[in-house]
Amino acid sequence: MDDYGKPKEECAVFGVSLNTAEAAGIVYNGLLSLQHRGQEGSGIAVLSGSGGNISCIKSTGLASEVFSGGSLDRLPPGCTAIGHNRYSTTGSNIRENVQPFITEFLTGRIAIAHNGNITNAKQLRESLKQCGINFSATSDTEVVSSLIAYRCMKTGNVLSGILEAAPTICGAYSMVILGYDGRLFAMRDPCGFRPLCMGTGPHGTAFASESCALESCGFEFTRDIRPGEVVVAEKGVVTKQTFLDPPRCRGGLCIFEFVYFARPDSIIDGMSVYEARYNMGHILAQEYPVHADAVCGVPDSGIEAAIGYADESGLPLVSGFVKNRYIGRSFIYPVQSQRESAVRLKLNPLTANIKGRKIVLVDDSIVRGTTSRMIIGLLREAGAKEVHVRISSPPFRYPCNYGTDVDSVKSLIANKADMEGIRIKIGADSLGYISIEGLEKACQKCMVPFCTECFTGSSGEITRKNVLEE
Ligand code: SF4
Repeated sequence: MDDYGKPKEECAVFGVSLNTAEAAGIVYNGLLSLQHRGQEGSGIAVLSGSGGNISCIKSTGLASEVFSGGSLDRLPPGCTAIGHNRYSTTGSNIRENVQPFITEFLTGRIAIAHNGNITNAKQLRESLKQCGINFSATSDTEVVSSLIAYRCMKTGNVLSGILEAAPTICGAYSMVILGYDGRLFAMRDPCGFRPLCMGTGPHGTAFASESCALESCGFEFTRDIRPGEVVVAEKGVVTKQTFLDPPRCRGGLCIFEFVYFARPDSIIDGMSVYEARYNMGHILAQEYPVHADAVCGVPDSGIEAAIGYADESGLPLVSGFVKNRYIGRSFIYPVQSQRESAVRLKLNPLTANIKGRKIVLVDDSIVRGTTSRMIIGLLREAGAKEVHVRISSPPFRYPCNYGTDVDSVKSLIANKADMEGIRIKIGADSLGYISIEGLEKACQKCMVPFCTECFTGSSGEITRKNVLEE
């Protein structure tokens, strides 16, 4: 959970294969563009020389902190590199768990950056331990890295190792892999839980969690990596595309990417994130119209849905809050009362737009309800006559197994109260959540199926081959 009590995502990945030796700098810029997906740790691994040497710098903190003071210059020149921003949902926030992970084996080494959550990591770890493989961290990515390295060693080829390891891995994985053979691999799990896309530029090919990072680094967005697809790039060009077995689960792209995680300037599987959020607001206004004076969104991800609500309802859109963008993670709040101050410090109501008005407040989600109660309280203190809350996701009722830190089931407000109870607890005059059908309709240009498990409880269980099956 983040400072606003919102669910947090696991990570961002970025990788480049170039025809010039400037890979590390470009990956650094990519990580800056993807910082919203993880702020706990950052790292870059670069392939250099002809002997398959991989150098890596990584640490806890933001990318700008990890690579401050000239540390980026300590990475060697190289044409191929990967990078990662971490938010920890599996394994604690220690340096050992920061990615990329480098795994050495008898015939070479690989580096991996992974976004997602491996649901059978524990079983894989035990099986690998029985083969004499030791682990230095607690992250599921280290398990996958070791598994792929084990298969690389057996097959003598990095792509074969990846393709043999993948059918034994359950859960969500969008990853970029640096091979000692000079190749860069991008792989997305067969359900496509997490996004991964590809772009091309004058000097080569890039892969990123979101298209906004490709464009920020001078690459033209080419397409999404399809669920179950593995793409190989070498010396700046794509040399191979292949597919894993079809999924044996009911999962799909995390629909919460459109609600909250992704940047609005990204396009995921054919759907603009901005347009999806705008549509959510539109549909919310149809599902829950209300007599009010103005609409405002909770920064940042409630803003686009608020624009859609205002357009559909005909109500004026106003800025309801000013967000302090310079606090970052520096605010310390060991007790609940200080946590409440943190919300006020980060989000201050714009009294001139609020006072004396009936406000429609659009936000992306309610998890425990405590943050919503504080934000509504801020609007009332600023003189709002009424506050009508509209939420652009359905109520969270179930945990996420695929890399989102939703919260424990018993902490979720939707499991503790009915709609009227939630309304009273957060102090709203009325409350409306978008329906699951409405949310799917808002994202209907997306070309892959969705995961909606945390809203519906529909299981995405997968059965996989035994890890060490020959
Ligand atoms: S369970 Fe929810 S948060 Fe997790 S991947 Fe599915 S839609 Fe996303």
